Amino acid sequence: MANINKNFLNLKESYLFYEIANRISEHSRSNPDVKVIKLGIGDVTLPLPSVIITELNKAVQDMADVTTFKGYGPEIGHSFLREEIRKEYQNKGIQFDIDEIFISDGINSDIANITDLFSSDNIVLIPDPVYPVYNDSNVMNGRTIKYMDSNESNGFLPIPTNEHADMIYLCSPNNPTGSAYTKEQLRKWVDYALDNNAVILCDSAYSSYISDDSLPHSIFEIEGAKKCAIEFCSFSKSAGFTGLRCGYTIVPKELVIDNVSLNKLWLRRQTTKFNGASYIIQKGAVATFTEEGKKATKEMIDYYMRNAKLITDLLKEKNIYHVGGVNAPYIWLKCPHNMDSWKFFDYLLKEAHVAGTPGSGFGKNGEGYFRLTAFGNSDSVKEAVERLRKVL
Ligand SMILES: *Cc1c(COP(=O)(O)O)cnc(C)c1O
Repeated sequence: MANINKNFLNLKESYLFYEIANRISEHSRSNPDVKVIKLGIGDVTLPLPSVIITELNKAVQDMADVTTFKGYGPEIGHSFLREEIRKEYQNKGIQFDIDEIFISDGINSDIANITDLFSSDNIVLIPDPVYPVYNDSNVMNGRTIKYMDSNESNGFLPIPTNEHADMIYLCSPNNPTGSAYTKEQLRKWVDYALDNNAVILCDSAYSSYISDDSLPHSIFEIEGAKKCAIEFCSFSKSAGFTGLRCGYTIVPKELVIDNVSLNKLWLRRQTTKFNGASYIIQKGAVATFTEEGKKATKEMIDYYMRNAKLITDLLKEKNIYHVGGVNAPYIWLKCPHNMDSWKFFDYLLKEAHVAGTPGSGFGKNGEGYFRLTAFGNSDSVKEAVERLRKVL
């Protein structure tokens, strides 16, 4: 008789986005004349710039000619793309070989799949509130999870305590809170990981949203990080690739656990269980590193961050505690009048026809907080801010 992996039974059902959609459609049914503005979107909305579309089209054409046709590519990515990524790090003063760079079809899968490399006995440390994949992928493997409080007292940037852990998830700039670690704070995590022989799994999906140049864009800006950290980077939010699917994971050769190189293990894992990201999409991704590509993707990020500023300006005007919105497209605010997250959701929907995301959906420390995102259309965001001004 086959048995299932019983760890799956320990996963909590996530009703968050289902419940949000339900409440919005109910509200729209009873208020057919109003347009609900959604500031809960965790996905990009702008179309891709022409510099990327052109490269994608060219790559499609490559498939039509016997001399340029591509079948399977290298499982860990085409070198034309890995070389550009290597140069990006080099420009920041960080040296990698291209075989420390692994291309994938987005990092959600990498973040979950990396757990294959670690013993199920490892203790995992995860911030609360959190992006759900860190938690759920470890629940599926039956690992013990400890949560670190991310709250107002630490500015939603938890720093290490004396408690031991083997695997630590960090996300900076953070989803859902929009907060971002300084170099000194990340330095504490690197020291902690080195002292504990632990590994840091660092999600840098939003690093291109950092506007404060004193903040680290990569954990590898911290000395010693190559001995204890893996970094996940994605084209999803930085270049609008959520639908195209492309990301990369850096596994340094210096990262050795139990006398085994994690770079070798990840290579073995990927070459067995993954057959590479699409050639066409990798061609689109490499266009983001050209001068024109950098300019076009920066314009998209600037557009979203102007939205973020409209929202944070309003919150300042209303004296509402918030973090984020400066180095990330997320704004994390404290619900006024001690409302709980869902009560505030209902209040905004009813009074302003604006929808966001209840913070309680991201963990216990999210209760009483609320996430707004900057990914909307700028006219809608302006209108939403006007509506919110009247009810906050
Ligand atoms: C959107 C997002 C990702 C991106 O995942 P992809 O699979 O590359 O699209 C990763 N981490 C966080 C925190 C995100 O919000």
